[in-house]
Amino acid sequence: MATRRTQVGIVGAGPAGLLLAQLLMQRGIATIVLEQRDRRYVENRIRAGVLEQGTVDLLGEAGVGHRVAVEGQVHGGIEISLNGQRSRIDLARLTGGKAVTVYGQTEVIRDLINARLKAGGEIIFEAEEVTPLDLTGDQPRLSYRHNGEVCELTCDFIAGCDGFHGVCRSQIPKSVLRTYERVYPYAWLGILAEAPSPSHELIYASHPRGFALFSMRPPTRSRLYLQCTPDTDLAAWPDNRVWDELRLRLGPDDAGMLNEGPVLEKSITPMRSFVAEPLRHGRMFLAGDAAHIVPPTGAKGLNLAASDVRYLSWAFFQHYETGDSTRLDSYSKTALSRVWKAERFSWWMTLVLHKASEEDGFEARIRMAELEYLLSSQAAMTALAENYVGLPF
Ligand SMILES: Cc1cc2nc3c(=O)[nH]c(=O)nc-3n(C[C@H](O)[C@H](O)[C@H](O)COP(=O)(O)OP(=O)(O)OC[C@H]3O[C@@H](n4cnc5c(N)ncnc54)[C@H](O)[C@@H]3O)c2cc1C
Repeated sequence: MATRRTQVGIVGAGPAGLLLAQLLMQRGIATIVLEQRDRRYVENRIRAGVLEQGTVDLLGEAGVGHRVAVEGQVHGGIEISLNGQRSRIDLARLTGGKAVTVYGQTEVIRDLINARLKAGGEIIFEAEEVTPLDLTGDQPRLSYRHNGEVCELTCDFIAGCDGFHGVCRSQIPKSVLRTYERVYPYAWLGILAEAPSPSHELIYASHPRGFALFSMRPPTRSRLYLQCTPDTDLAAWPDNRVWDELRLRLGPDDAGMLNEGPVLEKSITPMRSFVAEPLRHGRMFLAGDAAHIVPPTGAKGLNLAASDVRYLSWAFFQHYETGDSTRLDSYSKTALSRVWKAERFSWWMTLVLHKASEEDGFEARIRMAELEYLLSSQAAMTALAENYVGLPF
């Protein structure tokens, strides 16, 4: 068996794991990242695309801010289309100049992997059967198999950044872990198309036929979503049906804005809210989707992974540089406080914009009143804007 040692063993090369590794490496803290997939798969997984300013700033601190600064599209507003009538929410004006940046998660991942490997950092791709061991002892370990060989990594700490279906959270005893969950009765049918998006800002459309989102992957592609049922069969949605439905949900006045192009990818995304507490067990810390999931409506998943990593990296800096573990001890409480606010916002955006499958007349009218109020009230728009651009870390 091959044995090795590091200070922080990181499970998962998603945004959380890679960003943590990069921040710690910059302060001289040794890390090794274990990732079950190959590099190509990890770099091409299409997911998030809306970054809060705090996330962009953190990428800068991690030394990977150059490309997002040049290629990211800064958006100072979003549009809400209510039954075919568009209104703009001026995020920048309502938040004193704050904005979001549209830059694909695939690009964030490529930047982080390139920077780590260039600096001599290690990512062990295709690490199989990763298992965290001895979490409550002084020397936790990660056992895994690589190239057919059984290996063991001894660490000071383990960071579980292995996403919702990862192995780390499941190592926390049931008597310790509490979970909170909401599964929604709808999903998103998403397409990536080689065609410009209909508007230079995101359009969130609430329509009697269901929700739709019109977003982009700069510089040339659009990323478009339709509310559907979780059991939707993609085979029932040939490209022409998707385009027709997108036009219907934009409404007759705006349907002509939609640009058709070759569909490069089609997928179904289920919608779930989930939080596991606490984020620490012994010497293992959870960060990102390993600990919590939001429905994608509020564009918060990647941004929450980034804010967890912000708090956790501060805690490791303090521990290794001063010997003080106060921030490690308070990490779970501090991170969860921000997580729950983003959970609330994502839940609210999801409920207010989606048509429930069993929606009765009362619920439909309440939802409409909520949206009409939102678009007519400075206070309500400010609350949305403040949350959308991201609460402070
Ligand atoms: C369709 C879609 C759209 C989204 N849109 C947005 C958006 O606009 N804005 C936003 O902020 N968020 C969005 N999200 C959410 C965002 O993509 C996630 O929150 C983000 O990827 C979380 O990062 P993470 O590093 O915590 O987890 P992940 O990205 O899931 O990374 C975890 C990594 O761990 C690896 N792993 C898993 N198990 C193991 C194991 N046993 N051993 C070793 N490695 C393992 C995985 O292969 C993966 O590489 C979206 C998600 C989806 C699906």
